[in-house]
Amino acid sequence: MKPELGTEEHPLRVAVVGSGPAGFYVAEHLLKSDVHVEVDMFDRLPTPFGLVRFGVAPDHLKIKSVTRVFDRIAKNPAFRFYGNVEIGNDIRLDDLRDLYHQICFATGAQTDRQMGIPGEDLPRSHAATEFVAWYNGHPDYRDCEFDLSAERVAVVGVGNVAVDVARILCRTPEELLETDIAEHALEALKNSRVREVYMLGRRGPLQAAFTNPEARELGELKGADIHVPAEEARLDPLSAAELDASEDDTLRKKVEIIQDFAEREPEGKPRRLTLRFLVSPIELFAGEDGGVRTMRIEKNELVSDGERTSPRGTGRTEDLPVDLVFRSVGYRGVHIDGIPFHERWGVIPNEAGRVTDPDTAKPLPGMYVSGWIKRGPSGVIGTNKKDGTETATAMLEDVATSSVLAPTSPDPAAIDTLVRARQPSLVTYEDWTRLDALELARGEVAGRPRVKFTSRVEIREALAEA
Ligand code: NAP
Repeated sequence: MKPELGTEEHPLRVAVVGSGPAGFYVAEHLLKSDVHVEVDMFDRLPTPFGLVRFGVAPDHLKIKSVTRVFDRIAKNPAFRFYGNVEIGNDIRLDDLRDLYHQICFATGAQTDRQMGIPGEDLPRSHAATEFVAWYNGHPDYRDCEFDLSAERVAVVGVGNVAVDVARILCRTPEELLETDIAEHALEALKNSRVREVYMLGRRGPLQAAFTNPEARELGELKGADIHVPAEEARLDPLSAAELDASEDDTLRKKVEIIQDFAEREPEGKPRRLTLRFLVSPIELFAGEDGGVRTMRIEKNELVSDGERTSPRGTGRTEDLPVDLVFRSVGYRGVHIDGIPFHERWGVIPNEAGRVTDPDTAKPLPGMYVSGWIKRGPSGVIGTNKKDGTETATAMLEDVATSSVLAPTSPDPAAIDTLVRARQPSLVTYEDWTRLDALELARGEVAGRPRVKFTSRVEIREALAEA
C-alpha cells in the first residue's frame, strides 16, 4: 500500500514557479493547511516578488510593503526560495516532474500587447512594460534606452500602468529622489526634456480602466498641470445613460474626477499632462531622423451590443506631434514549453487553477496555475490572494483523491543538490535578506528609501562580499 501523502513522514512536495504575489499566496495557503506540505519556489530572476519589485511604481512605496507578508511566508521552515533558477533552462520541466508531487505556475504575463498599427515599431515607440521594467531596475531591461530628450510623449491606454508611466514622466527630480526608482532611470529622468504628456483613451471617461486613487494622484503632481479637453470629459449619451442606471458610486466619482480636471486652469507648472478620450492611434509617422514624430489619431464614438460599450472610428482624424510613444494597452502571458497555452487569451487553460488539456478539457494531474497566467493581466495585488486560495484549495483536494504526479525522487536534499549543480549562482531567501539589507543601507547613504542592485553581476558581487 502506498504511504499516505501529506504527512510528516511523506510531505506533499510542491514546486511553485514564479515568486510574485500569485506564487506567494499559493504557498501561504498550502503552508497554512493541515496537510504537511513543503514548498520550493523558483524564480528566473535573482530577487523575489515579481511585479511588486519590477512592476509597482517606485513612488508607490506603501503598496510594496506587502513584501512583509511574503517575508513571513518565506520564514516557514517548509519553504525554500531558489532565485536565479530558470525552469526550462537550468531545470527542465521533466526534472520537476521527477522531484515534486505538484507544480504550480505563477509566471505572470511577461510580455505586452500590441496596438497593431502601422509605424508601431519605429524608433522611439516602445512598450510601456519595458519602460516600467527599466525604471524599476529589472536586470533584463537596464540597458534599454528611452530618448528623454523628447518633449512630447504619448502614452496609449488609460489603465493603471499608463497612469504610472505618465506620473513617473511628470515627477520632479526631488519627488523621484523619494522613490526607489533605479539609479540609471533617476539620472535619465533628471535630465528629461519632456514637457507635454498625453494619455490616450479609446473610449470615454466612464470606461477609463484606471482606479480613482490613481486618477486623483494625477491632479496632485507638483511638476505638471493636468488638462482634459472639456468636450472629451463630457459623457456621450450612451455613457450618460449607463451611469444613470448604475448604482456604482466609484464610477460616478471617476467621472467627477475627470470632469474636475477639465475645469482646472493651468498653474504654470513646467509640464502639462493631458488626458484625451474617444481617440485611437491609427498610424505613427517618422520624422527626418527616422524616429516617431507624429501620431495620427482617429476620433471615436461609442457603440453598444448590449454587453460591452466599444469604440468605433468616425473617420475624423487629427495629427498629434509626439516624439516618444509608450503603448500601455495591457500585458500578455507567455507560452511555457510542455504546458498547454491559449494563444488568443495569453493564458494557460485551466479550471479553477487546475491546468486542463485543451483537447479533452480534462485536468492534467499535478499541474496548476495562479495569477495572471491563470486569469489574464487584471486586478490588483490583493486579487491574487483569492486567486491563490482557489488554486491551493484545488491542489489540496487533489491530494485527498491522490490525483498527483508520481515523482521518482521527491527528496529535498536531492533537489537542492541538483539545483546547486545546475545553477551555482542561485540566490536563496537568506541571500535575498542580505541583499535587501544592503539595498536599504545604500539608500540610507543616498538619502533615498532604497538603492536597488540592477544586474546579476552586481548581485553576485554584493553577495560574495557581504
Ligand atoms: P488595463 O487596466 O487592462 O488597461 C489597458 C488600457 O489599454 C485600457 O485603457 C484599454 O482600453 C487600453 N487599450 C487596450 N487595447 C487598446 C488599443 N488597441 N488601443 C488603445 N487602447 C487600448 O491594463 P494595465 O494598465 O496594463 O494594468 C494591468 C493590471 O494591473 C490592471 O488590473 C491594473 O489595475 C493593475 N495595476 C494596478 C496598479 C495599482 O493598483 N496602482 C498599478 C498598475 C497596474 P479599453 O478599456 O477600451 O480596452
